[in-house]
Amino acid sequence: MDASQSVDLLIYNIKELLTLVDGYTTSAKDNEKKLGIIEDGAVAIKNGRIVKVGKSDEVTSSVKIGKNTYQIDASKKVVLPGFVDPHTHLVFAGTREKEFLLRQQGVPESKIMKEENTGIISTVRWTRKATYEELLEETKKHLTSIADWGTTTVEVKSGYGLNLEEEIKMLKIVKDLKEHTLINFKSTLLAAHIIPPEYNMRDEKYVDLVVEDIIPIIAKNDLANFNDVWCEKGKFTREQAKRILHVGKKFGLKPKIHADELSNCGGAEVAAEVSTISADHLIYASEEGLKKMKEAGVIGVLLPTVSFSLGKEDYAPYSKMKEIGLTVALGTDFNPGTSFCPSMPFVITLAVTKLKMSVEDAIIASTINAAKAIDMDKEVGTIEEGKRANINILSIHHYEEIPYRIAENYVETVISNGEIVKGG
Ligand SMILES: [Zn+2]
Repeated sequence: MDASQSVDLLIYNIKELLTLVDGYTTSAKDNEKKLGIIEDGAVAIKNGRIVKVGKSDEVTSSVKIGKNTYQIDASKKVVLPGFVDPHTHLVFAGTREKEFLLRQQGVPESKIMKEENTGIISTVRWTRKATYEELLEETKKHLTSIADWGTTTVEVKSGYGLNLEEEIKMLKIVKDLKEHTLINFKSTLLAAHIIPPEYNMRDEKYVDLVVEDIIPIIAKNDLANFNDVWCEKGKFTREQAKRILHVGKKFGLKPKIHADELSNCGGAEVAAEVSTISADHLIYASEEGLKKMKEAGVIGVLLPTVSFSLGKEDYAPYSKMKEIGLTVALGTDFNPGTSFCPSMPFVITLAVTKLKMSVEDAIIASTINAAKAIDMDKEVGTIEEGKRANINILSIHHYEEIPYRIAENYVETVISNGEIVKGG
């Protein structure tokens, strides 16, 4: 930084500044160290980056504050990194409240799926029918909604197109938003979400289409960072998942997997074998599979709003993961069928109440570990000099209130890439 130039933004007098700088490891003995807390802290921002972090008097005396410096007094407030949501299906048309309500009434899944306008297949139909502009407008609304809850970095998957043209349409929307908004994006090809109806009983033919046509063209056009597959009974088999992920790897798309969400189908084992960057859901993952994931350096992404939205009592075995030493991240899985949830703070509430995570672990899992799960940890996830200025100011006194204040939006100010996207 040129010392003669004043900083753009200064947040000072912060009651509790959670830098998460020591959040890289979970080995720290005391929780405060894990969260890298600075009391009476300050953060200075210039050109979208964090240029100074420390005690308020230290920061204010070492950076140049000019008449153009926007200053925020954060006394009595908690400041932490912008949330990172590492698993969403943000691009879709239509809503599926009908099946949500039927499930809560105990109607069996097989019966619900026979109803009109239910299931992923309905979303596929509506998304294919929507024009690019219509879909873009819908997605912008969801984006505003996640940013309102403090998410400044998000991974978005395709998977409601299920043919080359429609998958491209979805991923181009993500690219468009990445170029024209202040939010940070990573995009994922999920052509292997379900077998599309036109390939009914011809699933191998659809897998051929994915590996021979869709993956190469998406990769060549630089439309995705990751390649994902839903490994599950009735979706894609372990062998199909491996084939799809290996081909993606060859084309430079890092593998991800929806694993063991509805049953133990060996998804965690596939994740370890292919060395995916993350394995997501893991509700029914075996202990053996989780151990293999740990050895292979795979991150577990837990999405507790899905069990909640489905009205199920089964949640991912977090305590087992903790014991094994697996790196764990949290996400919303924002999608129209099983988790219409834009809020990472609500995910933290569920992580604490249902997964029995400590509040500190849940905050780490929603910031730096979530950033690791989408290969963004060098840029976001902590409040650290040199990183992108992605910061939330919360109107609470202590970070322990985050899960405790259920569904209250205390996210007062959201800063993404140095710009205020909410509050101010
Ligand atoms: Zn998903």
